[in-house]
Amino acid sequence: MFDEPSSYLDVKQRLSAARIIRSLLRPDGYVIVVEHDLSVLDYLSDYICVLYGQPAIYGVVTLPHSVREGINIFLDGHIPTENLRFREESLTFRIAEGTEEYLIEKSRAFQYPSMEKTLGNFKLSIESGGFSDSEIIVMMGENGTGKTTFCRLLAGALKPDGDEKVPEMKISMKPQTITPKFEGTVRQLFFKKIKAAFLSPQFQTDVVKPLKLDDFIDQEVKNLSGGELQRVAIVLALGMPADIYLIDEPSAYLDSEQRIIVSRVIKRFIMHAKKTAFIVEHDFIMATYLADRVIVFDGEPGIDAHANEPESLLTGCNSFLKNLDVTFRRDPTNFRPRINKLNSQLDQEQKLGGNYFFLEDVEKSS
Ligand code: ADP
Ligand code: MG
Repeated sequence: MFDEPSSYLDVKQRLSAARIIRSLLRPDGYVIVVEHDLSVLDYLSDYICVLYGQPAIYGVVTLPHSVREGINIFLDGHIPTENLRFREESLTFRIAEGTEEYLIEKSRAFQYPSMEKTLGNFKLSIESGGFSDSEIIVMMGENGTGKTTFCRLLAGALKPDGDEKVPEMKISMKPQTITPKFEGTVRQLFFKKIKAAFLSPQFQTDVVKPLKLDDFIDQEVKNLSGGELQRVAIVLALGMPADIYLIDEPSAYLDSEQRIIVSRVIKRFIMHAKKTAFIVEHDFIMATYLADRVIVFDGEPGIDAHANEPESLLTGCNSFLKNLDVTFRRDPTNFRPRINKLNSQLDQEQKLGGNYFFLEDVEKSS
């Protein structure tokens, strides 16, 4: 049994973990996995049981379904065989609608220079780039390729080698790891750090309400669970007045539904507030849902890595996935990206055509 094996792993590591777990299969044995990353779940499993109910009150486990059916039931919030609805709305993944036209109209209002940064034995080189408001840039790359380092350079918390200067910008950052030091309740923390935002009805409707903080708002910050802390940290980061929001691994410790809600909250906030966000995210479905453009990190992790300039979701995902030797298709019902099984017909066809990732819907689906 494996409980949430993918937390903090990058996409490559998630896929290796999935293959290793599958290698345990024997005719006389079962393997049971709890997993929140839907594309990993899809890749890993033969059958899926959906659990629904009321958190902290009760839970129900469905009968095993085929993988596609199980994930679609979960997203739909409806079990057809029982004619039972367990969630009011269904969740879909129409990604980056109209992003392309939208981008042409915008000018790149902010620029950062090409930079290098050495940290011990690690060297990161960054190509210069630009970004505009109402834009989300997702950083994709293996662990140890300098994504956090790049965030800290942008935030001014680290200085680049040489005398390159990052333009001074107001930055709000959600760090990758969250250590609760605050003595007091969540509400007290919000009043201390983000009082103006917390009292604004717009922020309440767009951010606080959808993240469902009410259940633990009067609890001590130090006693919160990982998923509760993650949501508090996201609210804190978005509540600070800033030009740029750096959000490092927002999905860690969140379940699949919370990941979708968090993605929507971040996207709506960035568009409404006309700000820019840089987001590090390994959950591929969440990353592609969030991204207007992507920065691909490559090179040798921990040694010598390279951050490319921001590029379109399509070209960025293509080079990222090519590097991993993995192809994706889209589910025709809810548009969620699905990993093709290695050497399946679609996998081979897409690789031949150089189409590792699809933006438009693909008719064929298993
Ligand atoms: P990512 O966020 O992409 O996983 P990081 O930016 O956290 O990568 O780290 C990149 C590499 O730099 C890692 O190999 C890490 O061990 C190393 N590193 C980070 N900070 C320091 C430091 N202060 N001193 C030495 N090495 C560091
Ligand atoms: Mg990191």
